[in-house]
Amino acid sequence: TDMRMEDVSYNQELNQLGTVLNQTMDQVQSLVGAQQEFVSDVSHELRTPVAIVKGHLNLLNRWGKDDKEVLEDSLTSSLSEINRMETLVNEMLQLTRAEKMTVSPDVEKTAVAPVMKRVYHEFELLHPEFVWTLDNNLNDRAAVAIRPDHLEQLLIILLDNAVKYSTERKEVHLALARAGSWLEIGVQDFGQGIGPEDIDRVFDRFYRVDKARKHQVGGNGLGLSIVKKMVTAYGGRVEVESALGSGSSFRLRFPLTILGSEKNETVSE
Ligand code: ADP
Repeated sequence: TDMRMEDVSYNQELNQLGTVLNQTMDQVQSLVGAQQEFVSDVSHELRTPVAIVKGHLNLLNRWGKDDKEVLEDSLTSSLSEINRMETLVNEMLQLTRAEKMTVSPDVEKTAVAPVMKRVYHEFELLHPEFVWTLDNNLNDRAAVAIRPDHLEQLLIILLDNAVKYSTERKEVHLALARAGSWLEIGVQDFGQGIGPEDIDRVFDRFYRVDKARKHQVGGNGLGLSIVKKMVTAYGGRVEVESALGSGSSFRLRFPLTILGSEKNETVSE
């Protein structure tokens, strides 16, 4: 009977090993799958600008030497297409970085209000045709464990979008407040809004509502996916509420910390 006992435990171990191997294979497969999907998305996005530039180069090659108008048009269009590609590649790099980002537990604590005020004033200067408001209930000790340039990048993406997608009523409200143990950042606009059929997908990479129209606004559909990855990496949340025609409200939440408090501890509810 001793032998049989050993057999049983040997079998059990083999079974366990099999289960673990299967799980690992599943994980590897889904990683490879995600990788392939990304490559295929990227190729798809790059194909259009490449085709456009190629078309212009062909025009230049055939007529550009004699026809000054063709020369100028094709050069201008090619340059702007190349600029778009450059932005696309940079944003893809940012997304990849955000995706594999691991936040070190001793990441610096950044006071949020000063960063927010700075970005707010920049946008005020850049878009004077907008009505800007900043509603801040917090002092400069309210902080989040995040790199300041990352916080700034998140704000810029949200504010850029608020401006881009507000064609009629040009008004953006920023808010900074505490919600229990969270610090909450709000960016609200009164622009075109997002319909219920799109709202769940705006954080997907390369997703744009109404692609044809967005092409004119010049987006790549990567901004919000960068926001989502980055906020999540820092232990935060991002939420959106929106209604077609009346505007959108984006909310970021991060665990709140207080600078200079006794042990710099996290404030908990
Ligand atoms: P994009 O570069 O196209 O702006 P994003 O990832 O930042 O990419 O946003 C994805 C899509 O979500 C946009 O193309 C747009 O359709 C929609 N969207 C984002 N922000 C807003 C907003 N503030 N108001 C209305 N629609 C928005």
